[in-house]
Amino acid sequence: MNILVLNSGSSSIKFRIYTMPHEELVAAGLVEKIGSEEADIQVEFRGQRERLSQPVQNHEEGLQWIADFLTERVLVDSTLDAIGHRVVHGGEEYSQPMLISEEVLDKVNELAILAPLHNPPNAQGIQVSRRVFPQAQQVAVFDTAFHATLPPHAFRYPIPNKLYEQYGIRVYGMHGTSHQYVTKQAASFLDKPMSETNLITIHLGNGCSMTAVKNGQSVDTSMGLSPLAGLMMGTRSGDIDPSIPFFLSNQANMSPSEIDQLLNQESGLKGITGENDLREVLKLRAQGDKMAQLALEMYCYRIKKYIGAYMAVLGEVDALIFTAGVGENSDIVRERSLAGLENLGIELDVEKNQEHLSGIRQLQRASSKVKILVVPTNEELAIAEQTYQVLSKNN
Ligand code: AMP
Repeated sequence: MNILVLNSGSSSIKFRIYTMPHEELVAAGLVEKIGSEEADIQVEFRGQRERLSQPVQNHEEGLQWIADFLTERVLVDSTLDAIGHRVVHGGEEYSQPMLISEEVLDKVNELAILAPLHNPPNAQGIQVSRRVFPQAQQVAVFDTAFHATLPPHAFRYPIPNKLYEQYGIRVYGMHGTSHQYVTKQAASFLDKPMSETNLITIHLGNGCSMTAVKNGQSVDTSMGLSPLAGLMMGTRSGDIDPSIPFFLSNQANMSPSEIDQLLNQESGLKGITGENDLREVLKLRAQGDKMAQLALEMYCYRIKKYIGAYMAVLGEVDALIFTAGVGENSDIVRERSLAGLENLGIELDVEKNQEHLSGIRQLQRASSKVKILVVPTNEELAIAEQTYQVLSKNN
């Protein structure tokens, strides 16, 4: 079965095509700068990389380009059977991937109130795909779904009940597809049933989040109503005193949308150093930049605080799992986040941590009670797997 995985953002569409159940990656690509005369299109197919620049006015044109590329070059003798869409917010309704009906699409649109930057382009991707690929079945895979198991004492905010009842203000959590994928991979690596595995999963990419996984289920997570909460990120502040927005409004005369922009786009690593990419921050630090040093310390300190909190939440932890761009690649972030946690049974082998290997690997000392793993994430493959499972159940 040929499954196209689509991740539609506001000005980009990422895609991958897999043959399932063999998990064979057939082609991958990216259409960026949608809406411009010089959109950037990159594809990888049969070991070759191609890059071109051409006008792509909107998502419809972007998806049409992908459809033509697939039919003319990739699926010449076969058909596209299904599309798995990444949808950021599934609200309280969706704890599982769903075959897309009118009702599901309406709900994804309604949930834009909770994810204004993400759900509208996700919904648009679904609408356009239905026109461009009418023969393919469509499945929505929600980034919030893995966190549907959070208990009320973890997902409720201590604010008046009516705000939850009327507006659904609660912790939803994000990056669920990644946390779930690495949980499954780690349990299998540790040779334990998922239902008996306790983990702290640490997803450090452009966005960063951590999840406490008890018996294979998410019981707490650092992002909240939106992806702004929790850890310090590339451009997002993570946790701050909730009174700061009032202060900015009253003292600096900032509007709600200016504060939104400030905390989502201009904070985090970027707010402290001017750079949102950790690699650039590390280069500055190597040149002796004090702000880069401070940013690294703040970034790792916050990870460490969440590790302590989730050790307390879980009681017993089999392993800490580092994943995504920073988690998989940055030995310095892993080392500084774990420094001084020996009394909690977390002992990093500093030499193993510095080896640049690929795949799942263990980084703890032999005496460490808690294992420390790097588990590469693969959200696209996880979406293809879930899409395949939904269709196998429904056909
Ligand atoms: P992701 O969102 O998972 O693609 O992660 C993207 C982030 O990973 C980038 O912003 C980089 O800061 C970070 N990253 C990737 N490779 C490295 C590396 N070798 N060292 C430090 N950070 C890295």
